[in-house]
Amino acid sequence: MPLVPCRACGHQVDTSATACPGCGATNPGHKISRQQRDLIVSLFQFTIVAILLIWGGLYVWRTTVPMIREILARPQVEQTQGGER
Ligand SMILES: [Zn+2]
Repeated sequence: MPLVPCRACGHQVDTSATACPGCGATNPGHKISRQQRDLIVSLFQFTIVAILLIWGGLYVWRTTVPMIREILARPQVEQTQGGER
């Protein structure tokens, strides 16, 4: 198991250690605590979901709006062409 300096006191601790033998800090082998990491992971996931929703929304918007405009414009074009001819 690799030894890393404790994030709190710098004491050499195992990366899998749950508490530092020198200062008693939790998860001394990790630069951030588990709660902070979970928070960052959840924020990261939220950001990805938000980006996907915005991207998907824009994609749907860009594909459906021209279709709707085309459908709405088509009868008018046919009517004007039919009236002229
Ligand atoms: Zn320590």
